[in-house]
Amino acid sequence: MSQPMLKTGVSIPRRGLMFVLSSPSGAGKTSLAKRLLASDGNLFLSVSMTTRPKREGEVEGRDYYFTSRPSFEIARDGGELLEHADVHDNLYGTPRAPVEKWLAEGRDVLFDIDWQGAKQIVSAMPRDIATVFILPPSMEALEARLVKRGKDAPEVIARRLRNAAAEIERSVDYDYVIVNEEIDAAEEELRAILSAERLRCARRTGLPQFVDSLAAAGKEGA
Ligand code: 5GP
Repeated sequence: MSQPMLKTGVSIPRRGLMFVLSSPSGAGKTSLAKRLLASDGNLFLSVSMTTRPKREGEVEGRDYYFTSRPSFEIARDGGELLEHADVHDNLYGTPRAPVEKWLAEGRDVLFDIDWQGAKQIVSAMPRDIATVFILPPSMEALEARLVKRGKDAPEVIARRLRNAAAEIERSVDYDYVIVNEEIDAAEEELRAILSAERLRCARRTGLPQFVDSLAAAGKEGA
């Protein structure tokens, strides 16, 4: 199990963290997630299952597990999903097994899920989760990004924009909010949150033992 080391080389065991990113489509969440995953060896992406059609350039098993509605419903009803939601008229859900494995190994898991999914995980596993909402600097910027991405039909973009206002209102329920005006700055803020969350005492299961060993050594030396 890889545990983050202190600068002294001391490794304090801890539980894995569920790091949830949410935002309306086009706020830059996927780009931020990619940057974080590419540069952080202890962070793993939870790949969701969805009934949405595959977009150009998307890869099965990397971006999503694309599936039919009946197969999704079988997985959902069989308890194979940690959370699930209907987003923009498609079903999305988080496969449970990989997440449970990574967390048990002390690895951190990144989730790109909507507010409905975040809420379900917060209720089920409140101690293991940190939630971050990414806001666009303006609705004009959001629309411009969706159009520029060119991956969705105009009617799909229109629907996503209509839904965005309601999603944005949910941001107040998150632990953190980042306004993504400039991606490098947003990435730095996201990294700062991840670093701080990893250091939370409650997550660091090996901390009492480490503190005891320091205290014992201190008393011996006194
Ligand atoms: P997109 O279709 O643009 O990939 O994703 C649409 C929305 O669904 C995004 O807000 C994304 O975060 C959310 N989403 C993706 N996977 C899941 C999931 O497994 N569960 C939930 N609740 N939302 C998801």
